[in-house]
Amino acid sequence: MNLIIFGPQASGKGTQAEKIASNYQIIHISTGDIFRNNISKGTELGRIAKEIINKGNLVPDDITNKIVENRLAQKDCDKGFILDGYPRNYHQVEFLDKLHRKITRVINLDVPREELIKRISNRRVCSDCKANYNLIYIKPKKQGLCDECEGTLVQRDDDKPKAIEKRLNIYDNQTKQLLDFYQKKGVLININGDQPIEKVFKDIISSLNSSKH
Ligand code: AMP
Repeated sequence: MNLIIFGPQASGKGTQAEKIASNYQIIHISTGDIFRNNISKGTELGRIAKEIINKGNLVPDDITNKIVENRLAQKDCDKGFILDGYPRNYHQVEFLDKLHRKITRVINLDVPREELIKRISNRRVCSDCKANYNLIYIKPKKQGLCDECEGTLVQRDDDKPKAIEKRLNIYDNQTKQLLDFYQKKGVLININGDQPIEKVFKDIISSLNSSKH
């Protein structure tokens, strides 16, 4: 099973991708996580990506495409994968298409913009272990501190108001159109992402299971 999950920032795509990967025992590939890991490890890629990401822009296609190509070439992806955050524009769609990995289904999470802004501005991440929180939906037990390691909770630079608007506009202008490409291939499934996490997950699984036949 080779999947792609689409959805704007804070649509819950990372959470759902993890749950789907664990449910079907497939590999979760998040380009955003790959960049963030490189940033926290201080690698050359991290150094390049950091400034771009903090401004709310996209990392250049040649860099991103190469990362995905290398990851998909690893043996563990043969059992199936779910791409989260990739492809994000038409060049990436074309590049992925040329890798000839048959995409079984493309999941699109639909969430209204007001709800996205509310979710993003309340998002916090642990500065030590990188665990995610939300001041409305996934509150830490102690204010400002991580439940796991007591690290300080911070707001990602790309979750600040100016970057949020830019990222949602990029999504509207570029990424949404990609859905048409997959719609024409007959692999797109639309899911209402404005529901509790478990209900969204249930809808995804029943849609994936019923569309197999
Ligand atoms: P995400 O966690 O998916 O929201 O990604 C965080 C940031 O990483 C994005 O705002 C981009 O700057 C960068 N990024 C992630 N995936 C891609 C991609 N496919 N193409 C270009 N930049 C990306």
